[in-house]
Amino acid sequence: MKHDRRATLKWLVGSGAALFLGGCGKGPEPGEPSRRRYQVYLTTDDGPLRGSENVDRVIRETGVPMTAFVVGRHAQSSAYRARLDAYRKNPHIRLANHSYTHADGRYADYYRHPQHVLEDFEMNARILGLSGKVGRLPGRDSWRLGGRRYDADRSARAAADLLAQHGYRLYGWDLEWTHTHSGAPIGTAEVLGRKIRHQLEKGHCYTPGHLVLLMHDQMFRGRGAMEELRRLIQSLQNDPAIELQDLENYPVFGPIRLPASSKGTKLIKGPTTGVSETTPVDPLKFAH
Ligand SMILES: [Zn+2]
Repeated sequence: MKHDRRATLKWLVGSGAALFLGGCGKGPEPGEPSRRRYQVYLTTDDGPLRGSENVDRVIRETGVPMTAFVVGRHAQSSAYRARLDAYRKNPHIRLANHSYTHADGRYADYYRHPQHVLEDFEMNARILGLSGKVGRLPGRDSWRLGGRRYDADRSARAAADLLAQHGYRLYGWDLEWTHTHSGAPIGTAEVLGRKIRHQLEKGHCYTPGHLVLLMHDQMFRGRGAMEELRRLIQSLQNDPAIELQDLENYPVFGPIRLPASSKGTKLIKGPTTGVSETTPVDPLKFAH
């Protein structure tokens, strides 16, 4: 299956770099607060939207860390801006950049113009007051982090490289809680919990042992869906092998070094200079 091949490829990228950086048999050390546990990072995309208020409520009540990748255009209306303000005031939520336009839904055309993608991210940061350079591409699972890169879809590669050259750390996702066309979550909290544990045990993550979960704000518009999110979080909180972790603590090994030209670069890319296992983690500068 296509998904399995991608997961395996991502694992190869992650494990190869981790071995290079951490030495034989050692996992990543910098910034990792608990080496015996799996780390899960909750993220939502596309807010503020209907559903953000329920996400805000569950995160506030459970007190777990979450990163919201937000879209500036959605904050134009006062109702949605209020939801964004609630995120800002939530001490457990960090805001990160998901572009201003979200590609207007025309991804293929969007990624043909990397300079425009960069400007779209810069505009989002300016309008929303995002001081950090932590982002996620609209509609594309691309990573630029820790001197490594991964693109599930090659069409986004040039844009992702350009953003990285301008200091952005890009997070894709290891697992998505998918949804129906109308936005309802597919699969219960129990099903998602099993998938998360299975993927962590297999090591099929950009960084083995660290799973970034993608969700979308609009999935949680209904009360039932909101309660599923709460159940998922509580089940992960109660799992002694898992720690719900702040994306700020994701193991990043140093500044991204990209070659002057990305032409001909391979998918698996280790750091090229100045990075060793003793290099301290750069603190991620999130906006909040
Ligand atoms: Zn999105």
